[in-house]
Amino acid sequence: MGDSTKYKAPKTNSMAAITTYVAISVIIFIYGLLEIDQQIVSKVGLLIFGLLVFTLVEYLFHRFVYHSGKDYLEEGNWQYKVHGVHHEHPTDKDLLAMPIPLAIMLSTIFFGIFWLIMGINTFFFWPGFFIGYAGYLYVHYIVHTRKPPNNAFNILWSHHHLHHYVYDNKAYGVSSPLWDIIFGTMPPKNEPLPRQKRRRPSKN
Ligand SMILES: [Zn+2]
Ligand SMILES: [Zn+2]
Repeated sequence: MGDSTKYKAPKTNSMAAITTYVAISVIIFIYGLLEIDQQIVSKVGLLIFGLLVFTLVEYLFHRFVYHSGKDYLEEGNWQYKVHGVHHEHPTDKDLLAMPIPLAIMLSTIFFGIFWLIMGINTFFFWPGFFIGYAGYLYVHYIVHTRKPPNNAFNILWSHHHLHHYVYDNKAYGVSSPLWDIIFGTMPPKNEPLPRQKRRRPSKN
């Protein structure tokens, strides 16, 4: 409060980010398919498992890292810089993804961690994980740039809008509500979206 220096968040084109991450993941996966001797079933299984694990990491990061501390909407806090700024400007489509070099750096760190845990299997698990991130970015992009769709996608659209405009302590899952169901952070059933979008979500 009273701070006149406005935080300028870095802008990232979501579609460029998504294309880059999918391309890298596909290249790594194809390398694994061609060069590593393993059953195709386990290769594809690891890919799907990596994707599922990403949805859990996405949930945990959103809930316990980005929303750690009540003051994530205060400009001086690091939570604001990584996430609060998006809550403040949810329709700014260039604030939906982290900078591409940062994401590639983080994904490399994740590759290293997975390598320590599962060795060569990382070549199949990690592409699934990174494609999960690209999928998350795509869902997030659609949710914030399109009107509510008249198809199954509406569930994700409504779920994330409830997180933004009604409950900032519920509906943390963006790519799926799965972990909200498991960890009990689903918004109450049939909660209508407010006509007037509130800038600052209220607690409960
Ligand atoms: Zn949030
Ligand atoms: Zn959002």
